[in-house]
Amino acid sequence: MTQIFAAPGRYIQGYQELQRLYRHIAWFGQRFLVITTQGRLESLRQTLALSFDSPDLSLHYAVFDGEVTRAEVQRLHQLQQTLACDGVIGVGGGKVLDAAKAVAARARLPLCIVPTVVSNDAPTSALSVLYHAEGGFDDVLFHERSPDVVVVDTHVIAQAPVRLLVAGIGDALATYYEARTCVQGQHDNFLGLAGGGLQSTAGGGKPTLTSMAIAELCHRVLCEDAVQAVRACERNVVTKALNRVIEANALMSGIGFESNGVASAHAVYCGFSELGVRATAFHGEYVAFGTVVMLVLEGAPAQELDALLRLCLAVGLPVCLADLGLADISDHELQRVAEVAASPQQTSRVEPFEVTTWEMRAALLAASDLGEFYKKGGSVLTTSGGQCPASATSRG
Ligand SMILES: [Zn+2]
Repeated sequence: MTQIFAAPGRYIQGYQELQRLYRHIAWFGQRFLVITTQGRLESLRQTLALSFDSPDLSLHYAVFDGEVTRAEVQRLHQLQQTLACDGVIGVGGGKVLDAAKAVAARARLPLCIVPTVVSNDAPTSALSVLYHAEGGFDDVLFHERSPDVVVVDTHVIAQAPVRLLVAGIGDALATYYEARTCVQGQHDNFLGLAGGGLQSTAGGGKPTLTSMAIAELCHRVLCEDAVQAVRACERNVVTKALNRVIEANALMSGIGFESNGVASAHAVYCGFSELGVRATAFHGEYVAFGTVVMLVLEGAPAQELDALLRLCLAVGLPVCLADLGLADISDHELQRVAEVAASPQQTSRVEPFEVTTWEMRAALLAASDLGEFYKKGGSVLTTSGGQCPASATSRG
């Protein structure tokens, strides 16, 4: 058995840390390629000018065109070759970061990742999700190395729309449950696949005790701090609770999913992405609802479902199809979501039983119904707190 664990070379999180970026990556060299979005370009230029303040240093900016396609990666890579940079810095959301990872990997250059939102697991992982120009999913590129340096500026995160932090909490909430399923089934994680895509026949590595402990800690932090963190972010202030949730979203969930693997919650996300223009929610929002679906599918204990639904409601994560803008989902659409989520190419295959389309469809409907029920104040727990009186008595 081969166990593999991955993490970024350095993870740095601090208030206004972007202003100190250079000191964390001085070892890269003197010429840096900064990949970012048009909207962020000017303010970034001003901030980085303070940190990279030396005539020996040069920053070259490349504006990301909005989609991580093979052509876009090729274009950015050619730009880097022309400019002969010593290192790559990706600044932005998940897609910009995935593009920067792909460029650095192809050029075999050191990479610094600066997430401006913590809405998904992109910052620390060694993979890039590729899309076709028209937006459909293409493949996953697995890289040999995790990002060398990840710098999270908590001030920047607290200024971003709160819905993005909440979506990140959704993605991070799935981490523990999916890790548990993968570890119990002794499935492969996402490591050891470098050079191949999703269809690669190379096996991944098995999870470690360390990666599972990180997934558990991720869950504990969210249960304790998510509500306070969301409220702080709504006020654009950084508190200890928000600081911990940023670490859970960016670092713990990132390591947790990559080094343990994912299961049905992410398969449900892939199912919803099939709806194309009808799929308007964020990745983490589908994953949060997908986690409720997964617990229903697995027949998880009532207390677990109850805790998950309460947390989702408390932070504003979707708990039903209506919350995902799909109150009017047709039978045909629902069938398509279920078909894709239950297909053998999807990560629902790691469940310890065969997941059929009809079981997935049932879990989607039952989860949505439970969500509606909770929104009206309902609970799956009875007055005995979900505990069978007979077992309580027998324990004295
Ligand atoms: Zn995810």
